Amino acid sequence: MHQIKPVLSGLPFEALAETLKPLPQFRAEQVFQWIARGVSSFQEMTNLAIPLREDLEHRFSLSSSIIAGRAADPDGTVKLYIRLHDGERIEAVLLTDGEHRKTACLSTQAGCPLACAFCKTGTRGLTRNLTSGEILEQFLHLRSIEPEIANIVFMGMGEPLLNLPELRKTLEVLTDSRGFGLSKRRITLSTSGIIAGIRNLAATGPEVRLALSLTTGDSNLRSRLMPVTKSNPLPSLKDVLYDYQQQQGQRITLEAVLLGGVNTRQEDSDALAAFAAGLDVVVNLIPWNPVEGMVFEGQALREPTAREIAGYIQRLKRRGLKVTRRLRKGLRIAGACGQLGPPGGLKAHEGP
Ligand code: SAH
Ligand code: SF4
Repeated sequence: MHQIKPVLSGLPFEALAETLKPLPQFRAEQVFQWIARGVSSFQEMTNLAIPLREDLEHRFSLSSSIIAGRAADPDGTVKLYIRLHDGERIEAVLLTDGEHRKTACLSTQAGCPLACAFCKTGTRGLTRNLTSGEILEQFLHLRSIEPEIANIVFMGMGEPLLNLPELRKTLEVLTDSRGFGLSKRRITLSTSGIIAGIRNLAATGPEVRLALSLTTGDSNLRSRLMPVTKSNPLPSLKDVLYDYQQQQGQRITLEAVLLGGVNTRQEDSDALAAFAAGLDVVVNLIPWNPVEGMVFEGQALREPTAREIAGYIQRLKRRGLKVTRRLRKGLRIAGACGQLGPPGGLKAHEGP
């Protein structure tokens, strides 16, 4: 599929109004609303005169990506394979929690340049950043299969803060009361800890919820597991999180993917607790989702044992920290965290 016409999805209101000129502002508002309602063609924009619909159809596209396949897990998780206009493939996941609330997990990049030792997405490197439209369209595609989505998390493929200009446009569209009107409190951005990006977000917003993939509070181990630590050291990261929190006032999530025998030691939980001191946080533990063939410093990675998990939780709780344990979602369809990556083993579910 080759993209020729300019795409309207993902344009913040002002940019849309500019693009549609000389149409008056109220027409732009109508189109903006229709995009938020998820129409798939200009023909569905029934409050526009038919010749205008045809003219728009002629000049613009509403969307640039298509659902190329899907896989569903009995636990309620649905993973969509999405094909972009240049043939690139990304994934978006619909998660269901214990209270049956639905959360959209969206990708911000095709691949990821940060190469964390435990993450499948990191193994493929970065192909390219997604446009604001491509990020927004993932939400629209998920909403076409589930109309009631309560939350959005940017925890799919890629590092959101390395694609901040485009992501910011998407966030602007999603939180604009003239269209989607989503509350910033329902949007969480998960970052590996890009200091400049957090600072930038604090300075110019929007102030969405933040989750930091801390993994371990031990700087040395973290640098080896997450090379991004070398240019974003933990002490400065903590300072910038503190500032963000002072300004925005919401609790921050510290995520720690637990790697059996690697970061489940007492040093790790102690260092994590030390990092958390002075911040208002909830710790979210994610038992590592197996990715075949992943080796860290000569050792095959493995899931944490029940005992390692329990010990870790207990030590954090003793220090007064709030701890949640993420339920594994979509394990059977490789839709879980860190399992989004090059297709493998799922071909049978894929579409054209
Ligand atoms: N790049 C961002 C957001 C995407 S990764 C970030 O790193 O935060 C989302 C989460 O999945 C991160 O917390 C990451 O630590 C976790 N993760 C990556 N690989 C995983 C795996 N194999 N099992 C469980 N969690 C994983
Ligand atoms: Fe990138 Fe996040 Fe995976 Fe690290 S964990 S490689 S930052 S997607």
